[in-house]
Amino acid sequence: MKFSDITSDPSIKHKLIQTIQDQRVSHAQLFYGPEGSGKLALAIAYSQLINCTAPKADSCGTCFSCIQHQKLAHPDLHFFYPVTTSRKVPSKPASKLYISEWREFLLERNCQVSLSEWYDFIGVENKQGTIYTDDANEINRILGYKSYESEYKVVILWMIEKLTYAAAPKLLKILEEPPEKTLFLLISENPDHVIPTILSRCLPVRIPRGTVSEEDQFHFETFRKWMRLCFTGNVSEIIGFATETGKIGRENQKSLLQYGLQVASRSSSLQHGIPRQAFGGEEEMDFISRFSPTLSRERLPAFYDLLNTSIFHIERNAHAPTLFLDLSLKITSLFKE
Ligand SMILES: [Zn+2]
Repeated sequence: MKFSDITSDPSIKHKLIQTIQDQRVSHAQLFYGPEGSGKLALAIAYSQLINCTAPKADSCGTCFSCIQHQKLAHPDLHFFYPVTTSRKVPSKPASKLYISEWREFLLERNCQVSLSEWYDFIGVENKQGTIYTDDANEINRILGYKSYESEYKVVILWMIEKLTYAAAPKLLKILEEPPEKTLFLLISENPDHVIPTILSRCLPVRIPRGTVSEEDQFHFETFRKWMRLCFTGNVSEIIGFATETGKIGRENQKSLLQYGLQVASRSSSLQHGIPRQAFGGEEEMDFISRFSPTLSRERLPAFYDLLNTSIFHIERNAHAPTLFLDLSLKITSLFKE
């Protein structure tokens, strides 16, 4: 994940990049902010840039380290997150037992995710997740080894407010005396609920909700118009839309589809009862509230899949007008199912 792939607030992206360029990287940082601010995506982009072997203003996206990061499979990038028992893991839950689900979950959603979606994804129904003592032990174990390839070993702890009290002493010790070239990125939506001793060891970095740029407004308006066309299924209008969208350029086409993934993710959060105030502007929220029932739980996986496949093909130079026509017709029939 490059910083340029993330729709977060531009000033926070700039600030984070600057700390790496100036070599002012604090070894333990707490990224906190509301749902939808892109905290986790930024943490991954931060790790990718700090370990990129050919960085410029952003990570290169093509070196070995970047490629491994983009698959979320870099040997020195470690994730910990709330888990619980499930059909797959009937006892002793730990992050590593869910790593394949975690990667799939993030890659499908462009790393813009919420806790409720995660619980839904791993099928834990109404249970709450926890970051367990076993994970704190695992962190100590991992950091005992030398790093494989890269400059930094990065440990990302998503939703640190879910850390169990019993795990705190073990984590504290390593936060206080980490091996050299270790970077802890802790992520929280409720810093008030983070264990205070943990909180006090981290540099707090507030991640604001992104402001609406002209580009975002363009994607929002285009996406809204597009979904209306798909909903009504007027073929000649859809052809017109596909032809027009074929002219906006590959980067814009990709951003439009990525924006669609974000809308899907927010629709899903709304269905899980996250209050609408948790997100951006009024006009956009009105649209998402009305669109959300169209994207029911049954349709959501297929919708993610269609958009992700299209991003994949656009990156490989697919003929855009044909792609958008085909995609629109598939979305139309998905809405009719
Ligand atoms: Zn790179």
